[in-house]
Amino acid sequence: MMTKGKLIVITGPSGVGKGTLVRELLNRHRELTLSISMTTRDPRPGEVEGQDYYFVTREQFAEMIQAGSLLEWAEYTGNYYGTPRQQVEEKLAQGRDIILEIELLGARQIKSSFPNTRSIFILPPNFSELERRLRNRGNDSETTINKRLERAQIEIQAASEFDDQIVNDDLEQTLQLVEAALLGNFSLKSQNPD
Ligand code: 5GP
Repeated sequence: MMTKGKLIVITGPSGVGKGTLVRELLNRHRELTLSISMTTRDPRPGEVEGQDYYFVTREQFAEMIQAGSLLEWAEYTGNYYGTPRQQVEEKLAQGRDIILEIELLGARQIKSSFPNTRSIFILPPNFSELERRLRNRGNDSETTINKRLERAQIEIQAASEFDDQIVNDDLEQTLQLVEAALLGNFSLKSQNPD
């Protein structure tokens, strides 16, 4: 496929702070576009349809897979998550750089379909800090937290597959490291003009 824009994949264990990081990155760099994923999990309090995710049933998700409408997808702790193909392909054709905030299996699929993707893995300062952050979030059941922690261990072991590994200790410092990784090859500008 001919594309003008490029993909940026941001992966990291649940609780590492990817969401805050990505939100702040998008605030500062209006030239970047976020891909909105589709998921079968229930919305968390405050999450908005079409902004945080497209929330769908398992049947709807299966239909998307069948129709070839997902660029990648994966099962994660009992739910399905995937990247709608159309929005990404349209934006890439327009020359936009797109951020995908996705888990490990999806990141691998994207890297093999789009080899010039820049992949960034966000690490916690240490595992007990990750566990503390996940528990403090307070919106998941104990079972869900444990499943997410198990998955986190597997993901962290695969961090070296990514182009960059960045430890998220201090948000501002992490942002600067992410910006540094993206400057040069992407539409990222060194300073947000507004
Ligand atoms: P959460 O339930 O915490 O919003 O997301 C769980 C995990 O699914 C996170 O690691 C998140 O990055 C990942 N995720 C979100 N959207 C997608 C997607 O479209 N594809 C894949 N493969 N993972 C996703």
